[in-house]
Amino acid sequence: MTTANVLRIGDAAVCLGIAAHVLRHWESVGLLAPPRSPSGHRVYDERTLDQARLIRTLQRTGLSLAQIRHLAIGTHDDRITLIANKRGEIRANIALLRATDRFLEHVLECRHRIVAECAECSKLVAGYEQGSVGESGPPGLLLRR
Ligand SMILES: [Zn+2]
Repeated sequence: MTTANVLRIGDAAVCLGIAAHVLRHWESVGLLAPPRSPSGHRVYDERTLDQARLIRTLQRTGLSLAQIRHLAIGTHDDRITLIANKRGEIRANIALLRATDRFLEHVLECRHRIVAECAECSKLVAGYEQGSVGESGPPGLLLRR
């Protein structure tokens, strides 16, 4: 396998924007299996590069390598469960980030010295502490000015 469309590990790493040792690690945990040249060097063809891009993308969603491996080798039901759980985490994180953004937006305008003096701050903080951040607020920014 020495056609023009394959890369050695160093060039593949540059192409992917990651370190070569990361590619070797993904291989060691069974996520990548780059073919070997007749002389025994790893060669990264388009299929292997696409697999590496998929791993990187899935990592960016917060999946661990173990979870990514589970997606690759698990049963259909396992995959459905893992994806549903991850989507639940993502939705919770989105709700937290939105609540945090609303809180920070309010803090820009708030003229109260402490949270307890401001009904809006109190409401946002109380909502956060009760775990209902979806429509409430983030943790306490307790003192200002
Ligand atoms: Zn306030």
